Amino acid sequence: MPKILRLVLGDQLNSQHIWFRQKNDKVLYVLMEMRQETDYVQHHIQKVVAFFLAMRNFSAWLTSEGHRVLYLTLDHSDNRQSLEANLSRIIQDHDIDLFEYQLPDEYRLDEQLSNFSAQASCQVRVYDSEHFLCTREFLGDFFKEKKIYLMESFYREMRKKYDILMEGHEPMTGKWNYDHDNRNKLKDPLLLKPAKVFKREVSDLVELLQDQQVKTIGEIDANCFEWPVTREEGLVVLDYFCNQLLPYFGTYQDAMYTGDAFLFHSRLSFVLNAKLISPLEVVEKVERYGLENQDAVHIAQVEGFIRQIIGWREYMRGVYWAKMPAYSQMNFFGHERKLPQYFWTGKTKMNCLGHAIGQSLGKAYAHHIQRLMVTGNFALLSGIHPDEVDAWYLGIYIDAIEWVEITNTRGMSQFADGGIVGTKPYVSSANYIDKMSDYCGGCYYSKQKKTGDKACPFNSLYWHFYHRHEDKLAKNPRIGMMYRTWAKMKDKEEILKQAEYYLEHIESL
Ligand code: FAD
Ligand code: SF4
Repeated sequence: MPKILRLVLGDQLNSQHIWFRQKNDKVLYVLMEMRQETDYVQHHIQKVVAFFLAMRNFSAWLTSEGHRVLYLTLDHSDNRQSLEANLSRIIQDHDIDLFEYQLPDEYRLDEQLSNFSAQASCQVRVYDSEHFLCTREFLGDFFKEKKIYLMESFYREMRKKYDILMEGHEPMTGKWNYDHDNRNKLKDPLLLKPAKVFKREVSDLVELLQDQQVKTIGEIDANCFEWPVTREEGLVVLDYFCNQLLPYFGTYQDAMYTGDAFLFHSRLSFVLNAKLISPLEVVEKVERYGLENQDAVHIAQVEGFIRQIIGWREYMRGVYWAKMPAYSQMNFFGHERKLPQYFWTGKTKMNCLGHAIGQSLGKAYAHHIQRLMVTGNFALLSGIHPDEVDAWYLGIYIDAIEWVEITNTRGMSQFADGGIVGTKPYVSSANYIDKMSDYCGGCYYSKQKKTGDKACPFNSLYWHFYHRHEDKLAKNPRIGMMYRTWAKMKDKEEILKQAEYYLEHIESL
């Protein structure tokens, strides 16, 4: 029997994987906290702590199940801080005959491990991570030579393939999509429920990061770390979501509210992305709960949630593997500006932005519409370089891993891919933000004004964006109408001047 080394990456904590079904004394599992991972972008401190905690818990679980585990902490004297250097040493020290790894989800790590394998001093075998609904081969075939990637057709394929909310080949209720029922502002805050949080002391990890001088962003309460970081905790959060939040999830999924960061969102993205729980088990549980409790949960809520996971989440992964590495260089509009400083402090007079950024720094979390229609919208309207936007999103969110971050940021939010993920840019003036939130009421700026004193920056930047990119957007059939409206507007010059003034003084908005 050969001696086997199996690598478990920090986002491969799937206890249901075939690897762990049998104990084998010849197999050594390795998990490593490394500077290459803490430093490839500047992360939120809660994100680093969440990953290290989840890895340590997973390692303890493996040991308790009788597996042999080598765990390298960040400050371990044997830790050479990069994958290749650590693996080479371990293979040599433990006289390994066969090195095995699961397909990584990031292009960066995929390249690193393929290159390492090509020169490894032992045999190498690669496994699927058994996490997603689609294998990379399936995605490759599905996306092959398609000019337009439509999420909706992908989503329907997944519904059929996994028989979710289906009756035979048709959707159970005769309707595939309830998106239009799902766009309400939160008018009654009494509906809100507290988030299901855990209270953990993490000062040892915070000290470790300080001692090792790891540069992080954001805040942490070392006496009270709230995110789920084990499979059991993930399942508790899933249960809580079904019982308490699902009845309102779809209705308020686009709503933003100053009094609550999470509203009816599940907070499952970290445990999903670390692979502690699987997308299929989440979707099956939500489907089952919805069907068994139809008096309390409307199908629109259930469909709205399932679409995010087997639709958007899987689809983004498909686009990622179809388009990387070129995707990470795309800059359709040629935007060049730097992110303003307030993205790291939240100190801006724009209430919506100050709130979404402040919350991201405080909790390593903002929900989808805050990411898309507040911070992302502002970055796109003001012409920030997509590299800058990507680095910010990749660092700040607890769930940010490149395959799902870059497709959402560079693609959906910044339209830097020229329309692979979305059919038109997601931009708006104050009108949309006011429709979906209570931000504008407490803002220094006036949501109605396009020009003049205290005019909301979103209003003039919105038209400036369309105006400066007319050559690229005017022919888009979903946008033509905007240009007809713009052509009829009388105060074009003033609006453009106002926007240019704001762009010149972007740091003081
Ligand atoms: P819920 O609203 O409860 O949704 C349930 C689940 O659906 C999420 O946990 C997530 O797994 C999935 N989901 C929902 N929307 C998307 C989407 N657009 N793409 C992929 N999965 C989705 N999500 C990440 O997991 N990592 C990221 O780095 C990330 N970056 C984003 C950047 C931008 C600019 C935007 C607009 C969105 C980004 N998203 C990202 C998607 C989405 O915002 C988060 O998944 C969601 O906010 C996580 O919170 P939740 O678990 O409470 O989600
Ligand atoms: Fe944001 Fe403008 Fe509303 Fe202020 S007025 S919160 S800047 S959209």
